[in-house]
Amino acid sequence: MLGLMQDQPLLISNLIEFADKHHGDGEVVSRRVEGDIHRYTWSDVARRSRQVANALDGMKLGFSDRVATLAWNGYRHLELYFGVSGSGRVLHTINPRLHPEQIAWITNHAEDQVLCFDMTFLPIIQAIHSKCNTVQHWVAMCDADKLPADTGIPNLISYEAWMGQQSTRYPWPMFDENTASSMCYTSGTTGNPKAALYSHRSTTLHAYAAALPDVMCISARDAILPVVPMFHVNAWGIPYSTALTGAKLVFPGPGMDGKSVYEMIENEGVTYAAGVPTVWQMLLTYMKPNGLKFSTLKRTVIGGAACPPAMIFAFRDDYGVEVLHAWGMTELSPLGTLCTLKNKHLKLPKAEQMKLLLKQGRAIYGVDMKIVNDAGDEQPHDGKAYGDLLAKGPWVVANYYKGEGDPLVTDKDGQRWFPTGDVATIDADGFMQITDRSKDVIKSGGEWISSIDIENIAVAHPAVLMAACIGMAHPKWDERPIVVVVKKPDAQVSREELLAFYDGKTAKWQVPDDVVFVDSIPLGATGKMLKTKLREQLKDYVLPATP
Ligand code: AMP
Repeated sequence: MLGLMQDQPLLISNLIEFADKHHGDGEVVSRRVEGDIHRYTWSDVARRSRQVANALDGMKLGFSDRVATLAWNGYRHLELYFGVSGSGRVLHTINPRLHPEQIAWITNHAEDQVLCFDMTFLPIIQAIHSKCNTVQHWVAMCDADKLPADTGIPNLISYEAWMGQQSTRYPWPMFDENTASSMCYTSGTTGNPKAALYSHRSTTLHAYAAALPDVMCISARDAILPVVPMFHVNAWGIPYSTALTGAKLVFPGPGMDGKSVYEMIENEGVTYAAGVPTVWQMLLTYMKPNGLKFSTLKRTVIGGAACPPAMIFAFRDDYGVEVLHAWGMTELSPLGTLCTLKNKHLKLPKAEQMKLLLKQGRAIYGVDMKIVNDAGDEQPHDGKAYGDLLAKGPWVVANYYKGEGDPLVTDKDGQRWFPTGDVATIDADGFMQITDRSKDVIKSGGEWISSIDIENIAVAHPAVLMAACIGMAHPKWDERPIVVVVKKPDAQVSREELLAFYDGKTAKWQVPDDVVFVDSIPLGATGKMLKTKLREQLKDYVLPATP
């Protein structure tokens, strides 16, 4: 017997229509590429998203055709989020920090028909447009009078000239909720990048889940600043969850540096921010010497890479801001776990609570996960046994775009799981902790050393800005860890002092064999440390002689 409830597909157009109808006067504020601040409301977003949909119809774009963006977090990008997906096309957000050749490759692979870009990226488009074989229409995300003459890009039109004259009425089409809505290519540190292709259903379910109290706890009372880019896994779904809840949305535009982020938080009364650790490192580095405090910020979600405990302590103890540690992946839309305490933990001493809060957190309903050994046997949830982390759920990939390789593994019960490539422990309360990427694991004398633990200790030293731990070949132990360190400006610490800092903080055999000081650590397009590149840079490095 089937249930007798209304069968309404979960579509992204419903989110923006709901926002328009039920919290239309909620604010959306953006710093523009031009440097000024733009303000409007959720009703304006809805109205202009309909204009975008009409403009796409005007170009005779077909159902599921791809519309690419190369853009910062801002209001026009938000309109494309709803106008493109809502009208049945697929929004393809491209990471502008990729190499231009890689951007051209991705554009061809996705078969993008339209490419909308912020003016910051005009030089990239000028360099690659002739190599983007499928793009028919180029849209510069600016006012008509800001479009420079003679760009060399054929049929270039300004965003406002393109959509500004369109009708503000648009009957959003109804279709299968499993229809593709947006796509995002993985970071692609090895081989060519692959695309996760999200659906209206997966995106809507993820938007609900992200707003839950034990997840990002997004409400109509919040003013939210996603510093995490809209080109990186849909800004962790925040644009959708804020439309759903009616939170005020604040976009930093191109200003990701500490000063710009701080000003945006203070000027707009931001209560809640989200981003990767490198962004918050820049913010804290700017605030401390200037003696600044937050007046409204209460919570920040930090994820995308391991959040060093020192950062969690700095936010909590120096600024009274709660840090929510999150783990996710492009292939998971991205949220997998978020770290919040359970009722029974509230009576624990603060130090005990902190031990839990440093972990990546508990699975969000919708995502199931387990850890397995090399033979595929599930490992106990005791917080000690570690294994490869597998995930499944309605917003986890089943296949990559164009079916490139089967991303799933089948377990002994015939269940299909996505191997995340992370190595983790899970404790009895379900708190998951990542110890490494499987390819970054260091094995010394048959025992695993967590590079994240070694990095976290180094970053806790007051003179250390960034640290990366990598394994070096060793004749006796197979591999030994070394730590590569960037010092804070004007700070001093010697190799011996830093190694002594490990005393009592980790087992003696896990203490790195050496410290290598560098000016910078290579970062990938999403701000994560590129250990592959670091290993290349250190290919001539020789470990110091040890007994
Ligand atoms: P991406 O698909 O580019 O977002 O990268 C996903 C990968 O980032 C994960 O598989 C993890 O290796 C890493 N990652 C994300 N969040 C965290 C976190 N909180 N702690 C440690 N690693 C993380």
